[in-house]
Amino acid sequence: MVCHKYGWDENLLVLHLVVDRFNMCSTVFQDILKVLSEDTILAKEFRDQIRCVIGPGRSVRFWLDPWVDSAPLHISFPRMFALSNNKNALISEVGHNQGRKWNWQLEFRRECFGWEKDEEGRFYATVNSYLPSAGRDVILWIGDHKGLFSVKAICEAMELRLLSPLPGVWNIPKRLRKIIPPKISLFLWQAVYNKIAVKSNLVERGMTLENEGRCSLCGLVVESVTHLMLACEQTYPLWYGVLHREGVTWCCPRTVIDLLDEWPELRAKSDTGLWDLIPYSLCWSIWLGRNDLIFQDKEFNLEQIWDLHISRIAWWIKA
Ligand SMILES: [Zn+2]
Repeated sequence: MVCHKYGWDENLLVLHLVVDRFNMCSTVFQDILKVLSEDTILAKEFRDQIRCVIGPGRSVRFWLDPWVDSAPLHISFPRMFALSNNKNALISEVGHNQGRKWNWQLEFRRECFGWEKDEEGRFYATVNSYLPSAGRDVILWIGDHKGLFSVKAICEAMELRLLSPLPGVWNIPKRLRKIIPPKISLFLWQAVYNKIAVKSNLVERGMTLENEGRCSLCGLVVESVTHLMLACEQTYPLWYGVLHREGVTWCCPRTVIDLLDEWPELRAKSDTGLWDLIPYSLCWSIWLGRNDLIFQDKEFNLEQIWDLHISRIAWWIKA
């Protein structure tokens, strides 16, 4: 609709994102174009997935648009581009159908020197292998298998790019991200990286706490993430209960990340889908129980924590 209103070619709009050319449009539309032309990972992801299928080539630039490969020719063949006399040329301006053969009429400043011959050879091998299609020029967005841009597809691609695990880095497994509420995923991530506000962390930040920052539940040792979630005599029975039901003899791991690492291996009887959710729900239930004890003076009751943990898993599965 916007293209029709201003008489633009749609392909030109997507490929030649020069915001200055769009100052006659509404500020809303200018903002949209600005997002796409900026140097951000979102805009880069959008641009990287654009491919042109050439028909007459009237809206695709020979050097600057990605029609041969993922990279435009000016990136793949920088020497040839530097020598080119028509850097902004459209394909239709430098290529013509002659009989059944496609001919390029490219102009260069000078002949290539010996050391440039290799790039020249590859350049001509690439462009001469090109055959125009019979239809019109089409822009595809290959981030989606249908070739059409969608918000869902770019979100998934961005997630993959940003959240794919680096070695030694923990991330919530992709299949669980749709089940576990983001708030709780974030909490687990913070627990893994020792970023939740347990007393040992508050003391480290310079706060003075009564009881020298001892555990809110047992009062025996300093309240660290590992102690509270796994090793405390008030919370350990919850984990022990789960693993006892599974028929597994278990030794408490040293850290939350070790627990998450070994968790899939500990399953013996339970359904995989349910099993994977247990650490998330149990850690979150323990944390809420601990906060209720501190801030609302409620009793830390193992049975209640257990019941909440079970209902939480049921809600997630149902949702
Ligand atoms: Zn404790």
